[in-house]
Amino acid sequence: MSTPSTPGYVGRFAPSPTGPLHGGSLVAALASYLDARAHDGTWLIRIEDIDEGRSVPGAAEEILDLLQRLGMTSDRDVVWQSRRKHLYAAAYDRLAGHVYPCGCNRREIADSRLGFAPDGAAIYPGTCRHGLTPGRSPRSLRLRVPDAGEDVITFHDRMAGTVTQRLASESGDFVLKRADGYWAYQLAVVVDDAEQGVTEVVRGADLLDSTPRQIFLQRLLGVPTPRYLHVPVVRNAAGEKLSKQTGALAVRPGDEAGAVAALRDAAGFLRLDVPPAGSLAEFWRLAVTAWKASVAL
Ligand code: GLU
Repeated sequence: MSTPSTPGYVGRFAPSPTGPLHGGSLVAALASYLDARAHDGTWLIRIEDIDEGRSVPGAAEEILDLLQRLGMTSDRDVVWQSRRKHLYAAAYDRLAGHVYPCGCNRREIADSRLGFAPDGAAIYPGTCRHGLTPGRSPRSLRLRVPDAGEDVITFHDRMAGTVTQRLASESGDFVLKRADGYWAYQLAVVVDDAEQGVTEVVRGADLLDSTPRQIFLQRLLGVPTPRYLHVPVVRNAAGEKLSKQTGALAVRPGDEAGAVAALRDAAGFLRLDVPPAGSLAEFWRLAVTAWKASVAL
C-alpha cells in the first residue's frame, strides 16, 4: 500500500466482476485513475460483487491482475461488496421509516406502462406504497421518493454540466433490497462511497441517470455528496454499450508494448492526446499531463 500524497481527494474504480475487463470498462478505469493522479489523490479499487448471481468466479481476480499489469493498483486494500453486507444492512436500518415492502413482480411493473428510467429500471407506479395488496407477500423493499414538486434533484457533473431529475416521474420509488435477497446497487454504492471517504466519482455516463437516486440516498443518510464526472461510454457498431452481453472483447495485452497500446486506445477514446510512449511509466506521465490539459480539474 502506498500513502496518498495529497489529503482530500479520494477516487475509485468499481468494476462489477461479471466477466473480464473489456475496452469499455478500461476507459472508466483509466479516467478515474488519471483524475486521481492529476489531483495527487488516492485511488481505490472496489469489487462490486454484490449481485452474486451475476458475478463470475475468478473474474475479479482477473480484473485486478490486468489492472496491475497496466500499472493501476489500489492505494488501499481492495474492498469486496460481498464481504460488506453488514454495512448495507446498517444503512438500511437507518432508512426504515422511508421503506416499504413491495409485492409486485417485474411483469406487473412493466404493465403499468410508466416506462423505464434511462438506466433500464422500470418506473414504479407506487402500487404497494400504502400497503401490500391482500394475499400478496413481500418480494422487495422499496424506498419512497418524495411526491412531485419536492422530488427534484439537481447536481453538477464535470462533463455533462447541470443535471436535473424528477425522482417521482423519472425513477419512482426504487428498490433497496431485491426480490432475490441481494442489496441493490444504489444502496451499496452510496454506503461504500461514504464509508471509503470517496470525494470524486469518475465513471461511465451510463450511470449519470442513477446519480440523482444516489444523491437522494446520501441526503437521507446524512453523508456527503461527492463530485461527479461521467465519461462517455464506449459503444459497439450497433450502438450498444460494450459489455459481456454485447460480446465485448477482453483486454489481454501480451507484454508491456501491448499494455501501452491498450491504454493509448482507451485514452484516444477519451480524446486525450497522448504521444507514443515506449514504456508504461512514460505512458502514465504523458497521460496525466494530457488529462490535466483536457479536463477541468
Ligand atoms: N459497478 C458498476 C459497473 O461496473 C460501476 C458502479 C459505479 O462506478 O458507481 O458498471
